[in-house]
Amino acid sequence: MVSQTGARLVAEQLEELHARHGTRGDDRIVSFYPPEAAADRHLFAIAGTNVDGTRWGVGDCEVRFPLQSISKVFTFGLALEDNGREATLARVGVEPSGEPFNSITFDEAHHRPHNPMINTGALVAANLVHGVDRHDKITRLLERLRTYSGNPDLAVDQDVLAAELTSNDRNLGLCYIMRSLGMITGEIGDTLAVYLAMCSVTVTASELSVMGATLAHGGINPLTGQRALTRRYVRDVVSVMNTCGMYDAAGQWATDVGIPAKSGVSGGLVATIVNHLGLGMFSPGLDVHGHSVRAVNVCRELSERFGLHIFADPGESSLGGVPTADTPPARPDRTREVLPAAEAEHAEHHEGRA
Ligand code: GLU
Repeated sequence: MVSQTGARLVAEQLEELHARHGTRGDDRIVSFYPPEAAADRHLFAIAGTNVDGTRWGVGDCEVRFPLQSISKVFTFGLALEDNGREATLARVGVEPSGEPFNSITFDEAHHRPHNPMINTGALVAANLVHGVDRHDKITRLLERLRTYSGNPDLAVDQDVLAAELTSNDRNLGLCYIMRSLGMITGEIGDTLAVYLAMCSVTVTASELSVMGATLAHGGINPLTGQRALTRRYVRDVVSVMNTCGMYDAAGQWATDVGIPAKSGVSGGLVATIVNHLGLGMFSPGLDVHGHSVRAVNVCRELSERFGLHIFADPGESSLGGVPTADTPPARPDRTREVLPAAEAEHAEHHEGRA
């Protein structure tokens, strides 16, 4: 259990970040998706769910928004479950593409899309999900999203879906190219319907944080105790979030922030800190890569403050690591027991910087 002190510390940090980033005019916002979303530019939510069920939320955490590309994470998970790792990875790779989300590039050597976090790969994943028809596939995916989020009423927003279908030439083109290359099979309309229906499922930032926490918790929703993803595929899903979740900024993100995450053009972002917590954020202003400017900025600061980077040295975080039962975490004083004197001295010096 996160201690009360730890929970309060996190709440204070989130409030401070929300207040500061929410009032900052940001010249890095270059677009809104769809353009009408500019009217909601003030919306801003930061939510967190710990694997022990502790929850935090600041701002517009109950406002619904479409998952868009965030859905790719969960579709990939079900594709893995339905087909197994080997068969799935034969059809879609796990390499960052270095290209925008809707680029027309493929892993030519292996005859597959680069990864499941960009449109081509997500379309293949949608194609791989089992079901007797498109409705069956959508129903199965929706059930999973409900399990991840704990909201049994999660649904496809039909207005969003209708809008997606009217501006869908690029995805249509990608499907035709991939079918001509043998990367997808069957009716293109079916694959697109599944992919776009998942993009059009609406969630709140609170729900998104639970979805992230479910992945952080080995595939089990920490609030309901229900399993959303078979344990052995959680690592695959979180790994591609880490390397490919942030489109053509994925390498920069992995280096600077170091948290497995996935963004969507609606301004949402889900993050998974394995064994600790899930984060769900929402703010519609997008940067050049299509990521929410505020969500990216908040993640960057949270990563630094709490040492959330997967390769972080706990001594580097200004707040002393992820809050746990003993927050502020008492760093175990085992250095003297296990290290030779010179190293222990170095460790002490290092602690002094924290
Ligand atoms: N529906 C959008 C598309 O497929 C989702 C893009 C995104 O969120 O990155 O183009």
